[in-house]
Amino acid sequence: MTHDPRSALLHAALDAAERGWHVFPLRPGTKRPALHGETACPHTGPCTTGHQKWEQRATTDPDRIRAAWSHTPFNIGIATGPSGLVVIDLDMPKDKGTSDAPSGATTFKALCERAGHAVPDTYRTRTASGGEHLYFTAPDGIRLSNTAGTIGELVDTRAWGGYVVAAGSTIPTGRYEALCGSVAAPLPGWLQTILQPAPKPTHARSVPVSTHAPAYAAAALRNEVNNVATATDGTRNTTLLRAARALGRLIASGDLHRTEVEDALSRAAAANATQSQHYYDDVISRGLGWSIANNRGKGRAA
Ligand SMILES: [Zn+2]
Repeated sequence: MTHDPRSALLHAALDAAERGWHVFPLRPGTKRPALHGETACPHTGPCTTGHQKWEQRATTDPDRIRAAWSHTPFNIGIATGPSGLVVIDLDMPKDKGTSDAPSGATTFKALCERAGHAVPDTYRTRTASGGEHLYFTAPDGIRLSNTAGTIGELVDTRAWGGYVVAAGSTIPTGRYEALCGSVAAPLPGWLQTILQPAPKPTHARSVPVSTHAPAYAAAALRNEVNNVATATDGTRNTTLLRAARALGRLIASGDLHRTEVEDALSRAAAANATQSQHYYDDVISRGLGWSIANNRGKGRAA
């Protein structure tokens, strides 16, 4: 490297801020915030009226960024919450050499295939450990938090309460680099369904769901059951049919059992019924049958 790491990092920080992403300094060569923690708070400067953590102090202001980065080669943290981002973190297994566990990227690709979607095309970075970060813009009106393992093994997310190390940063094991995709795409709806906390049923009884399915399949089942249980009168039948078709894919892939899906959807429909149970069970059966027939043979990948 012939260029000055300070100016390279300054430019990377300004570049992130230009995209509307809120940045803060990480200690040089590390992934740890350079700002003081709550226990060490001097209650001066930005903390005069109470401690401000990195999430509050992260900024898009070029003057503040120049002031911080012109003297010290800080790595760059992006506070995902205030940046309006949801970043999917595809990690590598801890012991790459000896473990045959699939990487987060492999698991995520298989999940996309099973869900019937392409791997989303969006801004992404390669992490120092060889994993990937996929950047998405967060949906309006829903506050998503970090998740660990909700989507799948080694597939975590960073949203409110979290941050990611930005492209241009370097730690002893390697460098964070922008890969492709110039802009962050909106978070796909099917991923949002998995990540958002299940809505609290208002008028309908809550329908408990117990399953031994993988986390993302269980989350999909819970969400669809909630959608059906809370659907308003005019939309219940289409909601039920859509739920059956969505969950049928996960039966075809072997992630859910048909009987547990039928039972859960049937109880959800019954929780707020305006039609006979026979009618709802027929809708469920048709939806599942169609979906399983159309998704059979797509199989589980790794
Ligand atoms: Zn403070």
